[in-house]
Amino acid sequence: MNPKKTLTLIGALLLLSVSFIPAIDGLLIDNKDISLRNYSDRSIVYIKASSPYDYGFKAGKLYRLGYKILDLLFVFIKNDNSIKEDIDGRIISLEKYCPDFLEELRGLSDSIGIKIERLLEIQHYISYLFKNHCSVTASTNPATKNDDTFLTQNWDYEQPLLFLTTFYYSLFSNYPHIKHVSSGYKYVYFGIPVLQEVFLINEKGLGWGAIYTSLTKNESRCIDEGDGIPTYVLERETMMTCANVSEVANFWKKSQRAANKDRSYPNHWDYASTVWCDKEGGILMIEQSHSHIATVFGNSTGITGAPAGILWHGYHHLWLDPNLTGSSYPEECYTSPVKTERLRELLEKNYGNITLEVCKNIMRDHEGGFDPAKPDDADICCHYSRDYKVRTAFSWIIEPKKLTVHLTHRIPCRSIYWRYNFTRTFSRFN
Ligand SMILES: [Zn+2]
Repeated sequence: MNPKKTLTLIGALLLLSVSFIPAIDGLLIDNKDISLRNYSDRSIVYIKASSPYDYGFKAGKLYRLGYKILDLLFVFIKNDNSIKEDIDGRIISLEKYCPDFLEELRGLSDSIGIKIERLLEIQHYISYLFKNHCSVTASTNPATKNDDTFLTQNWDYEQPLLFLTTFYYSLFSNYPHIKHVSSGYKYVYFGIPVLQEVFLINEKGLGWGAIYTSLTKNESRCIDEGDGIPTYVLERETMMTCANVSEVANFWKKSQRAANKDRSYPNHWDYASTVWCDKEGGILMIEQSHSHIATVFGNSTGITGAPAGILWHGYHHLWLDPNLTGSSYPEECYTSPVKTERLRELLEKNYGNITLEVCKNIMRDHEGGFDPAKPDDADICCHYSRDYKVRTAFSWIIEPKKLTVHLTHRIPCRSIYWRYNFTRTFSRFN
């Protein structure tokens, strides 16, 4: 990247980060359906909408400047003609499989004056700039100490300007949002409404986490592809319609899932493995592609080969056959097998005694990786090296029974987990 382009990018990223602070961009926040409120000493942005269109429209009113800067940012960064050529087909596909999401985009488009086609391009570019790796666990009775249930996630990212991405994530993770569309459950997320929502938990106590899946680079191997609902949209629909992990597994199995190896959007987060927890103590990990799916619960010990109540995942398929899905083999994906093995080791080491503190320590762990004596890029708490620029941006732990999320806004080993209890928040927002 030439120096002029780098400087422009830095400026645009800084502006972008600031423009998604609701108190700055959201000058109209006095509207009763779009508001910034303080509960439990934390600020929460609330968006109430009568329909998907209305939600997109209100998100646009809240962050008009942010979306405009996002548009500007990607003019400088990337111009991918192949995605432009594909947009019409993508819209037809959204119309067929997820009209509600298209309605949100329509509302957003009308609100900010950016065409739907361009919004789809922008979403593609977001995936390009903020590639994620991540590691996740889930644990429940009998693995936990007090009949607790936990879901943990480290959000790792790979991109060229590391410190700026850290700044960007740090700012927008400070403002959890509540999406309240009357047709579905309320759910909490942070990030950019409509285009890049990072979900946490819904009002029924369903918690979420996810990891991207590395696909093989070997051209002679087959990768499972097909049209359907983009994973990102499927996750949002799950947050709005499912109350527990059984419902999630059924919903994902019956849904036609989109998968396209060349498109990170609108097949956003395609092939992602997702992890879920619920208020009843259920935990679930899903590996999936277009035609194949594995739903692995806490008691699926025949599949995991581990004691009941623990699940873990890195960014390659553990249970589906990589020859059918196209997932990388373990030896092709560098850090994932090392992290995966360490996650399992720590869950088994603490088996029967897993508490919130144990979960925090697991996500802050540096004693695995390539060098147990110091932090590196194969640690669960991931620090970039000269060869491989991947780092943990932030981390969260969900306690579904308490409707509580513990969230760091930076790398977990240098940050505290802020506690957000959404029990009163969900009931107040009606
Ligand atoms: Zn660390």
